[in-house]
Amino acid sequence: MCDAEEEQTLQRGMNYRINTLYSLILMSQRSNAPYNDKVHDDGVTIEYEGHDVPRRGRDYAHNPKTEDQPSKTPMGSYTQNGLFVKAVEEYKKGKQPELVKVYEKILSGVWSLKGFFDLIDYKIIHDGKRNVYRFILKLSDQQIDNSGKSEVQPEHTRVIPTEIKKGVWKRDGGKCVMCGDTKNLHFDHDLPFSRGGTSLTAKNVRLLCMKHNLQKSAKIE
Ligand SMILES: [Zn+2]
Repeated sequence: MCDAEEEQTLQRGMNYRINTLYSLILMSQRSNAPYNDKVHDDGVTIEYEGHDVPRRGRDYAHNPKTEDQPSKTPMGSYTQNGLFVKAVEEYKKGKQPELVKVYEKILSGVWSLKGFFDLIDYKIIHDGKRNVYRFILKLSDQQIDNSGKSEVQPEHTRVIPTEIKKGVWKRDGGKCVMCGDTKNLHFDHDLPFSRGGTSLTAKNVRLLCMKHNLQKSAKIE
């Protein structure tokens, strides 16, 4: 993991209000991903596909990919799709948008924090076989830190593209370049944007553990 999120929270792709402060989703743009998630060309808008009905036990003939994505369970409670739809409706009535922490799978077994996004819209589209949800999320200017405080989202979190993260991960061997630690890794941008650092090449991005990441930011300030 590239951030201090409990492993168990990552069993499900959509987690409405995983805590009192935000929701959490896992996305993947990999070609073998189960859902069709994408980032728009503007780099700050995510289109996130809703989730299918659960597979029915050992009924191997049952194919969730042929059924409309549900907003309610057979028991009548909201599914994750339904909860996200409700949040969009609240936002359209004037409430604050739901804050969503987004992780992206960049390589097999490697999840990277993409940043915090505002859930602002949804649509239902017909994918040729059935109706699916598409949730629209836009990069937020705020984030929640690990102690639960709201703060301004740092620029470097949000602008390192997935392809560059992949390359850096492989080059640095999935380890902190300072100490070799493999836990709580962050993609560290060499020079802060505020000091003229340019992004978008693997050369000025590296993997650091949380300790070395924090030491570095202390030095810059
Ligand atoms: Zn380290």
